[in-house]
Amino acid sequence: MDLNFCITCAAPLAARDDTEYVCDNGHPYWNEPRASTCVVLLDGDRVLVAERAVEPRKGSYIFPGGFLHFGEDPREGARREIREETGLSCGELTLLDVHNLRYQENEASLSIVFLAHDWQGAPAADDDAAALVWQPLDVVDGDRFAWPFPGLTDRIRGITGAGADVAHS
Ligand SMILES: [Zn+2]
Repeated sequence: MDLNFCITCAAPLAARDDTEYVCDNGHPYWNEPRASTCVVLLDGDRVLVAERAVEPRKGSYIFPGGFLHFGEDPREGARREIREETGLSCGELTLLDVHNLRYQENEASLSIVFLAHDWQGAPAADDDAAALVWQPLDVVDGDRFAWPFPGLTDRIRGITGAGADVAHS
């Protein structure tokens, strides 16, 4: 995100802090987190992750997902992103957690994390992901995961019993 100029009058913007910016003419700009969704798909104790093919954090792993559209229901947005990124059709989604991720240096995302209880199809990566791979759930807490989700793996295990009681078809 380029925060150099005011979106109202195009004067130079100055940061008061990470959230509040103001231009020379006094127009404020609020650099608040943008809402995104991602989905945890489990097969036993393995989780489906996408290897990023683009910056930021190219080569690292993320949950499949993406930014919500304007006015879009979060669950519908999550299903849309999963369909676009993996080709899978998700059934029921349970809200797992919400995390405020520092996506880039001056850009944050409020990430709404869902658990998919069932889905149909075989994962096929689109252009944004180099590959879709099944990894042990512990990968989420490792160095190769793009952004930290503190406490999420414990929450997943608490809900699913170590990921054993969800199935795909
Ligand atoms: Zn301005």
